[in-house]
Amino acid sequence: MWIDSLGREELLAEHERQAAKYAQLKAEKLALDLTRGKPSPEQLDLSAELLRLPGEEYRDAVGTDCRNYGGLEGLPELRAIFGELLNIPVGNLVAGNNASLEMMHDLIVFSLLKGNPDSPQPWCREEKIKFLCPSPGYDRHFAITEQYGIEMITVPMREDGPDVHVIAELVANDAQIKGLWAVPNYANPTGAVFSEEVVQALVSMPTAAPDFRLFWDNAYAVHPLTETVAPVLDVLGMAAAAGNPNRPLVFASTSKITFAGAGVCFFGASTANRSWYLGLLGKKTIGPDKINQLRHVKFFGDADGVRAHMAKHREILAPKFALVQKILEDRLGPPKAASWTEPDGGYFISMDVADGTAARVIELAKDAGIALTAAGSAFPYRIDPDDRNIRIAPSYPSLDELSTAMDGVATCVLLAATERALS
Ligand code: PLP
Repeated sequence: MWIDSLGREELLAEHERQAAKYAQLKAEKLALDLTRGKPSPEQLDLSAELLRLPGEEYRDAVGTDCRNYGGLEGLPELRAIFGELLNIPVGNLVAGNNASLEMMHDLIVFSLLKGNPDSPQPWCREEKIKFLCPSPGYDRHFAITEQYGIEMITVPMREDGPDVHVIAELVANDAQIKGLWAVPNYANPTGAVFSEEVVQALVSMPTAAPDFRLFWDNAYAVHPLTETVAPVLDVLGMAAAAGNPNRPLVFASTSKITFAGAGVCFFGASTANRSWYLGLLGKKTIGPDKINQLRHVKFFGDADGVRAHMAKHREILAPKFALVQKILEDRLGPPKAASWTEPDGGYFISMDVADGTAARVIELAKDAGIALTAAGSAFPYRIDPDDRNIRIAPSYPSLDELSTAMDGVATCVLLAATERALS
């Protein structure tokens, strides 16, 4: 890092320069938010037609009256569209309500209370259970496991997915490890896409727990920022071929496709897992919101309809990601004051600043009216062991706001680094 090469005088001068810039920044009295990966209003407008659908129609292609109870597994037409996109046979895919996170939560709770089809006993009867958490990862995943007292073990995230050597060693020897959180395509927050080798290793590695599960959250499967979308691997087929058909539990939703929080979610799994899930779900609900599912069928038509729709999202999102990259490169590249990911898809950029300064950067930014995701958010128990990771979510602000916010963040990164070097 550049700072290490500066003498004391140069360091003091650099600190004063950044402090002056920061004072200017504060004087602007900004109110900008780079915290959550929410679609912008412009993106939500792309799905405006949904507000008028399904119109007067309430029957699906096979004549089901969507106004009435039933159809626990969701409309076949919608499952066919997303089965194609998620590389999951229609018969293995369930379409649900508005949040895949709720499905993940339920799957954990059902496993705790009842055990899954391979469990010797409900997870809550085990002395202790543990989950592997590739990090940086998605804070809401970790929040679910933390809520239920499941011990979380951090494993390193690489450019091609989590470190499978570390994982293989852990799961082979510890029967208390029951699951792993995974975002295989355009991961939150690094943007990593799991390679076929990594996926193959995850579905085939021996595990001490017979009921070990991959919580395979494919939230960004169809969300490229470039013209080519990363392949969505047939994780269920690969697991079945490896003799572990029940290992993956696949999740997805249209939250970042249509309306966040008012879309449709999906669960894909082996026949045994699907029947187990539907058996428990059937006690919780008589069926999903089929009107919303029908509205989505009519809006998209087919899988190509979804692809074309995602191209429109890309047109809005790609310039925002490019802008963030440019500002980071211009301000922090030459002094090597930080490193950051350059994702080809998804919703986030993950930035590593000087060790021991991430919390300070976030504090400085907050005091200057720029909200960043809380320090440590992407790690289990919110503890970033190096205090260096910051998640940047470029989707919501306008290009102008994003430019101001990122320039301000860069100032905070440089100021925090000089402060630290002087301390
Ligand atoms: N999974 C990941 C990886 C996410 O980043 C998000 C939202 O940011 C979600 C799930 C939430 O999905 P849903 O709205 O379907 O609950």
